[in-house]
Amino acid sequence: MSIEENIARVQERIDQACRRCGRAPHEVRLLAVTKNQPVEVLSAVVRAGLRDIAENKVQEALLKKSRVSVDTSGVRWHMIGHLQTNKAKDAVRLFDLIHSVDSLRLAQEIDKQAARTGKVQDILLEVHLSAEESKYGIPPEQLEAVFPDICALPALRVCGLMGMAPVVNDPEQARPYFRRLRELRDRLKLPELSMGMSDDFEAAVEEGATMVRIGRALFKEE
Ligand SMILES: *Cc1c(COP(=O)(O)O)cnc(C)c1O
Repeated sequence: MSIEENIARVQERIDQACRRCGRAPHEVRLLAVTKNQPVEVLSAVVRAGLRDIAENKVQEALLKKSRVSVDTSGVRWHMIGHLQTNKAKDAVRLFDLIHSVDSLRLAQEIDKQAARTGKVQDILLEVHLSAEESKYGIPPEQLEAVFPDICALPALRVCGLMGMAPVVNDPEQARPYFRRLRELRDRLKLPELSMGMSDDFEAAVEEGATMVRIGRALFKEE
């Protein structure tokens, strides 16, 4: 399977999931997670027409962005990995959307760096849905307490929530985690919901994802 064929297949599965629940396919953005992939693969993804690239490390993104061999002027760059405060400055420079804001302290640092360059940085708040999958994220029960403080930061725009369901054999088992994240997002009246990976993105779409983050399903070779 070529990258083009894998993209077409994943997009078709997103479209079908949308149809099953009465959503329009354009409501869901497919993000290509190019972490651990060589820059040639990133270039191929852009050549194939995807316009959303997700990386999980600042250094890796910096290197690839400087070496990519295609025109990336229309590409949106997404940071989906854990971000240390001392990398906030680079992250603001590199990324259009930072999905992994998991503390007030990190939000304050991103705000400071964005303000310095006159940027308003789009962010998502990462919610800690499952202890198995990640040690990062704001605990759901603390979300409503920190939310006003983060929203008050002038150089940030909080666009939505991001989360990861636990790795399960049956994607149906991930569904309650996605539903929970959507309910939290609805309560905060935010537009974006970043959830769903290669093994569970259809359930995530059915539960309201506006962005799915797909790595392996795009880059497998069989
Ligand atoms: C790696 C990663 C993904 C993509 O996972 P796949 O299972 O390869 O689709 C999505 N989100 C985050 C935060 C990741 O680290």
